[in-house]
Amino acid sequence: MSVNQQAHTGPPYGQPQPGYQGYQQPAYGQSLPGAPQAQYGAYNGPMPGYQQPAPPQGYFPSLGFPSKGSPVSLNSDTSSLAPNFIGSLRAPPTSGAPPPASGASHPSGPLAYNQFEHGDVQNGIPASAAPVQRPPASQPFLPGSAPTPVSQISTFQQYGPPPASVQQLRNHMAGMTIGSTAASAPPPAGLGYGVGPSSYPPTTGAPRPPAMPGPPLPGQTVAGPPSSQPNHVSSPPPPSTMAGLHPGPPMSGLHGPPPPTHPPQPGYPMQQNGSFGQIRGPQPNYGGAYPGAPNYGSPPGPPPPPKRLDPDSIPSPQLNELPPQQKPRHRIDPDAIPSPIQVIEDDRNNRGSEPFVTGVRGQVPPLVTTNFLVKDQGNASPRYIRCTSYNIPCTSDMAKQSQVPLAAVIKPLATLPPEETLPYLVDHGESGPVRCNRCKAYMCPFMQFIEGGRRFQCCFCSCVTEVPPHYFQHLDHTGKRVDFYDRPELSLGSYEFLATVDYCKNNKFPSPPAFIFMIDVSYNAVKSGLVRLICEELKSLLDYLPREGNMEESAIRVGFVTYNKVLHFYNVKSSLAQPQMMVVSDVADMFVPLLDGFLVNVNESRTVIASLLDQIPEMFADTRETETVFAPVIQAGLEALKAAECAGKLFIFHTSLPIAEAPGKLKNRDDRKLINTDKEKTLFQPQTSFYNNLAKDCVAQGCCVDLFLFPNQYLDVATLGVVPYQTGGSIFKYAYFQLETDQYRFLNDLRRDVQKDVGFDAVMRVRTSTGIRATDFFGAFYMSNTTDVEMAGLDCDKTITVEFKHDDKLSEDSGALLQCALLYTSCAGQRRLRIHNLSLNCCTQLADLYRNCETDTLINYLAKYAYRGVLSSPVKTVRDALINQCAQILACYRKNCASPSSAGQLILPECMKLLPVYLNCVLKSDVLQPGPEVTTDDRAYIRQLVTSMDVAETNVFFYPRLLPLTKADVDSDSLPAAIRNSEERLSKGDIYLLENGLNIFVWVGVSVQQSLIQNLFGVSSFSQISNALSTLPVLENPFSKKVRSIVDMLQGQRSRYMKLIVVKQEDKLEMLFKHFLVEDKSLTGGASYVDFLCHMHKEIRQLLS
Ligand SMILES: [Zn+2]
Repeated sequence: MSVNQQAHTGPPYGQPQPGYQGYQQPAYGQSLPGAPQAQYGAYNGPMPGYQQPAPPQGYFPSLGFPSKGSPVSLNSDTSSLAPNFIGSLRAPPTSGAPPPASGASHPSGPLAYNQFEHGDVQNGIPASAAPVQRPPASQPFLPGSAPTPVSQISTFQQYGPPPASVQQLRNHMAGMTIGSTAASAPPPAGLGYGVGPSSYPPTTGAPRPPAMPGPPLPGQTVAGPPSSQPNHVSSPPPPSTMAGLHPGPPMSGLHGPPPPTHPPQPGYPMQQNGSFGQIRGPQPNYGGAYPGAPNYGSPPGPPPPPKRLDPDSIPSPQLNELPPQQKPRHRIDPDAIPSPIQVIEDDRNNRGSEPFVTGVRGQVPPLVTTNFLVKDQGNASPRYIRCTSYNIPCTSDMAKQSQVPLAAVIKPLATLPPEETLPYLVDHGESGPVRCNRCKAYMCPFMQFIEGGRRFQCCFCSCVTEVPPHYFQHLDHTGKRVDFYDRPELSLGSYEFLATVDYCKNNKFPSPPAFIFMIDVSYNAVKSGLVRLICEELKSLLDYLPREGNMEESAIRVGFVTYNKVLHFYNVKSSLAQPQMMVVSDVADMFVPLLDGFLVNVNESRTVIASLLDQIPEMFADTRETETVFAPVIQAGLEALKAAECAGKLFIFHTSLPIAEAPGKLKNRDDRKLINTDKEKTLFQPQTSFYNNLAKDCVAQGCCVDLFLFPNQYLDVATLGVVPYQTGGSIFKYAYFQLETDQYRFLNDLRRDVQKDVGFDAVMRVRTSTGIRATDFFGAFYMSNTTDVEMAGLDCDKTITVEFKHDDKLSEDSGALLQCALLYTSCAGQRRLRIHNLSLNCCTQLADLYRNCETDTLINYLAKYAYRGVLSSPVKTVRDALINQCAQILACYRKNCASPSSAGQLILPECMKLLPVYLNCVLKSDVLQPGPEVTTDDRAYIRQLVTSMDVAETNVFFYPRLLPLTKADVDSDSLPAAIRNSEERLSKGDIYLLENGLNIFVWVGVSVQQSLIQNLFGVSSFSQISNALSTLPVLENPFSKKVRSIVDMLQGQRSRYMKLIVVKQEDKLEMLFKHFLVEDKSLTGGASYVDFLCHMHKEIRQLLS
């Protein structure tokens, strides 16, 4: 028996589990009696959230943020990382050599443009489940001809350990933003980089269209006129005195040695256009190669050859206004590096039309940005579970070597589109769901029936269990039960079981849950109109409480509390003519002054409730009370639920730092001076452990807290958020709330939050087949042992990320299985189990791992890992660890999966070609690199939000969607094609929309046609557009209708109502907007995509050398 089996012996929710029933859990951090914590000792530390100030212990030592022992030493340049590598990437001044007309003998090679193409061009996600052969194209492009100096190679090398003093000098210079030499000469068009036709079978014999930045894509207005992009090329112009030093001849000594296997070839015999096409071999499933122009949006028409390799061909007109020697230039063509837009577009085209059928093990699903339908044929839909890789290494050694984290992002109650079927509810009768005797896994499609159907062998632990008589069924000639297709638990990946009383707290079926609305009525809340707004809204909203299936009315009961320094409880019993208020001023030891009449049925007490909601704003209209309490409010809700013996949710509407004398009182400890110091982590930690203990009590009762915050100043989200976070609740924040501009957003959030699907008193466990086990968890929940994720409430938007580690070998034959079991109480009070199963492939070749990764999920995991890391480590350590891990992932690929090639080339696995750009976005995010306008509360808020995000949400959050509205087809339902997040892509004659899941920006260029402005904003000129708009005016013209329908559509896709902000070009708000142009260098020092890619390359080379 493996460790794994033993580890799972304890029944999670099973009958004889003393610890579970009644939630009589022992002390925090200890595990249940009988729970298998011994084996998990090493992973016992890093439970989510706040309870543990110490860094996550025991897991992933090589990754640990605090770990300084990583193979890569960033020491040499970390202190000034960004400046260094940004600087060194700058191309040389234009005063360099003029572009040769034809590059036949010019040694400067445009390697830069080729670096990426030879990945394993596979990523394209095979349409079928069959593993696709890695194409020969994965061979890197060889700079065959000897010294392919200069250009990219030397650029990258500037980061490398300088082998010679000459290079040191160059490094130094590079660091000073002086471009390097030879590249200044735009390489000739047809440079073949010495790739002899003999070494690379050309994909076709035909010349390829140049990959260079031709004319902009349709919809991609590359660079407007000079004035429109003052900041784009952000590096300071090189001092002119230095400039002269560089433009020398290419220095062949600066780049990696020519690949030994390919003797230098004289000249560059290549065909004019062959250079890009050639390096990629046949690339199944990936239509159109990377740098190949067609894919990257470059129009097929080849621009003039010399331009093709000229960095200056990137339109950036404002450069023309600089003195020639000061022209900073990108050496790398932004169009030639992996484009998120292109990858998203390709996936949509390749995989959006067919349903994703889950019958095959280890299939990588379409990207989250692709619309597709799912047909459950035995594995859970990717809407419920997404994995970082669908083919995982057989051994722990392989996994460590690759450094690819093995994680699943699980959204157990995800909302499905109407075309897909909700999980069926299965009732196995009084004895409850059929389970494995030993590991307690639930019956699922992977269990093997044997002995004519009398017993079954567990797919997780191999134990053989008798089939209960009532569940017996004969097998057909293939060994399948004849009722296979009649039983969801035998044929589907996701389904529900009706739980028996054994699965209930205290062996009693639960009562229906309750919602308690708790409204801050201090001065600020009343004065802003918030109190009146909430009360008005509740009058109608209470008719939309969640209800089960086709029930006529919701089973949820409601209660009301108002508070400032004291609490007011309301008796809204249906028999009363008027509501009654009871004040509790002793907040030190909170109790609930009334039991009968506090929690009521909405329909029965409708008149009394309406009367109360009318009276509350009047009662406090003249309040002078500015101070509030907070913890006693939660305690009051908790006590009320305890008294009613039910689970439930508190909706707390709160405005200020709770400074009134009471338990959980807080002080203002905001200190921006801590940023970038070792104490920065304290900004993310709660200032008192009081709330951790309170959260634990709430979880035990099934009391989930949703918090709506309306701060006008610091209110310590890091501390106030502890209880919502650990109870599975949500936080919503509306800074400087103004009725006029913010009420619509708040009300939309509130309506959705009150109405959405939610389960209570939830416990989730993930079982795995022998060989791996769940070792770490991220999300909004509480854990009292090492295996069970507890959530007082779990709604349809909440995601839990689970990391796996090997504890034994896996086999290619049997693959690896996951079973996620969620026990919860439905909104009608029914106890249920929701089961999701997923089977993955296992590999003995690293290439198979890299071919089946999902970068969006990887980024989701890495962001959560990093965002937890900031609780215990300096932010810089966290950032460095992220970079290091990704460099290791890519270096391992390069070393083990890519064909030998010059070290001067960056080779990315096809599936991970966006890893650098997305990782850079995570590194530049407000949590890891805050700008001056980002408050401490914002950072704590975002940190918590991201921790519960699913993959689609992190994708758009870190790499926002940018749509050219003026390119929208007003006659179609479709969205305009998205463009890359760079100022270079904006035209001052157009209007753009940018969304990231929290905000929608509408950016208006200074030269937008007056008629468009009139149509969209109803004003006659650019200067009259108000940037105080929070909605677009409703105007009766096609353009206005189209834009508003796009905005509505986007709002409908997100779990929160996004704040709409109108930004005029060159207006001061534009800074805020530019923060989201994530491919550009950020004002806070975050690297541009191009620069970061070069930096990653340097890191990878260090690891390989
Ligand atoms: Zn088992």
